[in-house]
Amino acid sequence: MFTDDTISAIATPLGEGGIGIVRLSGKESIEIAEKIFTSPKKRFLRDVTSYKLVYGHIQDPSSGETVDEVLVAVMRSPHSYPREDIVEINCHSGMVTLRRILELALRGGARLADPGEFTKRAFINGRVDLSQAEAVLDLIRAKTDESRRIALEQLQGGLSERIITLRDKLKDLCALVEAYIDFPEDEIEIASKDEIAKSTDEIMKELQKLLKTYDEAKFFREGLSTAIVGRPNVGKSSLLNALLQKDRAIVTPMPGTTRDVIEEYLNINGLPLRIMDTAGIRDVQNVAEKEGVKRSLQSIENADFVIAIFDSSEPFQDEDFEVIEKIKGKPLIIVVMNKCDLPSVSDKSVIAARFSTRDVLILDISALCGAGLEELKDRIFSSSLKDLKEEKEGVLVTNLRHKIAIEHAAISLGRALSCFEKNKPLEIVALELRDSLDSLGEIVGAVTTDDILDSIFQNFCIGK
Ligand code: GDP
Repeated sequence: MFTDDTISAIATPLGEGGIGIVRLSGKESIEIAEKIFTSPKKRFLRDVTSYKLVYGHIQDPSSGETVDEVLVAVMRSPHSYPREDIVEINCHSGMVTLRRILELALRGGARLADPGEFTKRAFINGRVDLSQAEAVLDLIRAKTDESRRIALEQLQGGLSERIITLRDKLKDLCALVEAYIDFPEDEIEIASKDEIAKSTDEIMKELQKLLKTYDEAKFFREGLSTAIVGRPNVGKSSLLNALLQKDRAIVTPMPGTTRDVIEEYLNINGLPLRIMDTAGIRDVQNVAEKEGVKRSLQSIENADFVIAIFDSSEPFQDEDFEVIEKIKGKPLIIVVMNKCDLPSVSDKSVIAARFSTRDVLILDISALCGAGLEELKDRIFSSSLKDLKEEKEGVLVTNLRHKIAIEHAAISLGRALSCFEKNKPLEIVALELRDSLDSLGEIVGAVTTDDILDSIFQNFCIGK
C-alpha cells in the first residue's frame, strides 16, 4: 500500500460556516504548508510546537495575493490521527476560500486525498484497527445519541477487545491441537481432550452471543426502516408530523431522483426510526387516491417495522382490509386506531380478527390532540428491541461485515469440533480452527485484502 506521499483535502463540510479546515497529511505536509503560509512574526511552521495554533495568512506564492487570514496547527508524527505529520489550516468557511487553499496545497505538491484516506492511513499505521476505522464512519453518521454511544464504544476498542480475546483463546486452542500433530507418538490425554472440547464450546457460545446482538443493534446504527401505512385520510401525515414535532432527528434530502425523496428520522428514546417515503405520505392529497394507497403499500416491502393506521371515527372500508392483507406477514407491526378524540364507530376486534393467527398490539391514539403518542413511542421501542436491554451496556455488533465474519468463524469452529469428536485427523481440526481465527482477524484487520479495505473506505467522505 502506497502511503509515502502527502495528501490534502477539505476536512469540514463545504459551505458557509465559522471555520473550515484544510488538512494535509504526510511527510511533506509541513514543507508544503510553509510554501503558502506566512506569519507576521516570520515564524516557520517547522519550528512551531505541535498542537499550538499559529496565526498568519495563506498566500498564493505565484502572485503574492493573500487568500485568507488563518490559524494553523501542526501535529507531528506519531502523535496525530494517521500517525503522520499533519497540518490543519483553520480558515473562514466558505466554498471559494476552502477550495482556493486546497488548490494551493495541491499545487505545492500534495495529492488530493481519496475518500477516507486519512482514516485508512490511521489503520495502516496501526493507530486504529479496522473495526475502529469503521466506527469513525458510524460516529459521523450517527442519527441519535444512542447510535453515537454505540459507535464511540466501538471506536474506543470495545468490539476489538472482545475479538482479540476470542482470537487469543482460539490461538491457544490451535497450539494445543498442533502440539499433538507435531508429536504424533504422544496419545492425546483425556484431560486435554476435555480441555479442547470445553474451550471450543466456550468460544462458540461467545460468538453466538455476539451474533445475537446484531439484528437489534443494527437498528441503532442504520435506523429502523418504518412504514406508516393506511388508506387516505386516516391520519398518516398527521401522525408523522405529530411525532416529528417533538422528536425529529434529522432530515436528509436525497436529490437525484425524478422528484426529491425525503428521508426523515424520528428519534424514539435513542432509536432512529427511518420513515420510508415521507414524500409519499405527505403528498397523498396531491395524488389520485388509489395512487396514494399504492405508494403506501409499496413502502411496506422494505420496512423492518410497520405502523398501520385506521380511522376509528369511520366504518372500516375495503381499503383498510387490503392494508392488513399486505402487512400480515411483517414481523414487527403496531396497529393504531386514530382519531380517538372523536366518537368511535369501528370495532377494533374486527381488525384483530383479520390478523387471525397472530397477536397484534392495537393502540388508541389521536394524532391531532396527541393522546396515546407517548405510549406508542414506548411500544415501538420495546417491541423492536425485545432482548436488547441486557446487552445495551455491552459490546454490540452493528456492522454486517462483522456479523458475516463472526458467522464464518462459528461455522469453522463448529466443523472443528465435529471433526474432533469424530476422531478425524487433527490436521483437519487445526485447519478449521485456523479458518475460524482468520475470519475473526478480518474484523480487526489482522487479516485483510485490498478489496476489503477499498469497500470500507470508499464509503467515507473525502477529508476523513
Ligand atoms: P393521511 O391522508 O392518512 O395522511 O391523513 P391526514 O393526516 O392528511 O389526515 C386526514 C384528515 O384527518 C385531516 O383533516 C386531519 O386533520 C384529520 N385528522 C388526522 N388525525 C386526526 C385525529 O387524531 N383526530 C381528528 N379529529 N382528526 C384527525
